[in-house]
Amino acid sequence: MNDRTPEHPADIVARLRATFRSGRTKPLAWRTTQLRRLRELLTTHGAELAEALHADLGKSSTEAFRTEIDFTVREIDHTLEHLDEWLRPESAPVPVHLGADASAWTRYDPLGVVLVIAPWNYPVQLLLTPMLGALAAGNAVVVKPSELAPATSAAVARLLPRYLDTDAVAVVEGAVPETTALLAERFDHIFYTGNGAVGRIVMRAAAEHLTPVALELGGKSPAFVDRDADLSVVADRLARGKFLNAGQTCVAPDYVLTDPETARALEPELVRAVEALFGAEPRQSGEYGRIVNERHFDRLSSLLDSGRTVIGGSGDRTAKYLAPTVLADVDPKAPVMQEEIFGPILPIVTVAGLDEAIDFINDHDKPLALYVFTESDTTRERIAEETSSGGLGLGLPLAHLTVSDLPFGGVGESGMGRYHGRYSIETFSHRKAVLEKPLG
Ligand code: NAD
Repeated sequence: MNDRTPEHPADIVARLRATFRSGRTKPLAWRTTQLRRLRELLTTHGAELAEALHADLGKSSTEAFRTEIDFTVREIDHTLEHLDEWLRPESAPVPVHLGADASAWTRYDPLGVVLVIAPWNYPVQLLLTPMLGALAAGNAVVVKPSELAPATSAAVARLLPRYLDTDAVAVVEGAVPETTALLAERFDHIFYTGNGAVGRIVMRAAAEHLTPVALELGGKSPAFVDRDADLSVVADRLARGKFLNAGQTCVAPDYVLTDPETARALEPELVRAVEALFGAEPRQSGEYGRIVNERHFDRLSSLLDSGRTVIGGSGDRTAKYLAPTVLADVDPKAPVMQEEIFGPILPIVTVAGLDEAIDFINDHDKPLALYVFTESDTTRERIAEETSSGGLGLGLPLAHLTVSDLPFGGVGESGMGRYHGRYSIETFSHRKAVLEKPLG
């Protein structure tokens, strides 16, 4: 609220910790009530959130519901359906020297007060999905939306307190100073989604209090296209995955890796696929998003001459519009290959074949996602076996993150920790070992 002095981070954490210590967040009934209220918020105010997402990122309403609002509702439903079962204590066999009457098991203890720091690209989903996991695990939570999606941040800050237990859930809006002040406090877990540079700042701050962290980071996610693949299907799926949210998706295929002949054949297919999605003038399409701000627009524009333009290659800074772009003949040393693109530019890099593709992938940071388009079992198995990535998509980009029973997270430079479904419970709980030996 603008007419009130914002509560100091130390006071927020103390207030939430007192609630946690009172035991209020622990019963299953409290947890499921919070999840049901969050569901009600999303279904009642979906249109309002979609408008905010449109203001921040030019997201169409269809895309806003599919990738953010309904996505989160599905995660809530899945959690409500299984939470009881996920929280059940699990027994462990007891060694004979403890006697036949001894028993052992593990139980899930909530951690306490959790801090969730979210980025701007999916500002609803990436804030609320970790939050609901932390609540389902019985914690109190402070959420910090991204200042780069201001309309969504304001909407969330306005709506969450109307639906959730305000002594257990707090929203702190703001940028670097506010986040820095929050990070000085002692939390029991910090869940950060964003870039690796800030990931390091978060981890350093967490080390002061020995606070565990999950770092959901990004990086360049390659898409290997084998010469035996049906290029029409590949192009359709690549274009959908790449140009969703104008390429500002952490698991978007960052670049294509293929042999020169397949590259040539793929080019016209990608042109066709882009036009099928957004028409000949993507700028006129209500389904195509905008770049988040001028800084990112300028960064992306500077990458446009990294190769031969197959389609796109232009934009309008004032409108933050950058055409869906495919670049061919891209040198691995070109600027577009030096950093995560995080925008609507798809470079095609050529390699001699599978061996060289595997070497190329392993010569770079471990990606958040790796995509493979092939008809060959051997190729699929070799890539699965010989490379490391947060997730592996065989034939379809992005979709693995919609499977609530799969863990979502990175490895190496793409992050640490995982969440979604039962993996959120694992992340936001301590699995306590218990041994019992009757006294009698
Ligand atoms: P961002 O700029 O919104 O930053 C993320 C959060 O960090 C924000 O809440 C911001 O306020 C905070 N922050 C920024 N600077 C800070 C500082 N100096 N100290 C403390 N906090 C600070 O988002 P971004 O980092 O530009 O997001 C894009 C990156 O996130 C990409 O690399 C993308 O791949 C990655 N990403 C990963 C996932 C995932 O699930 N693994 C999802 C989305 C985005």
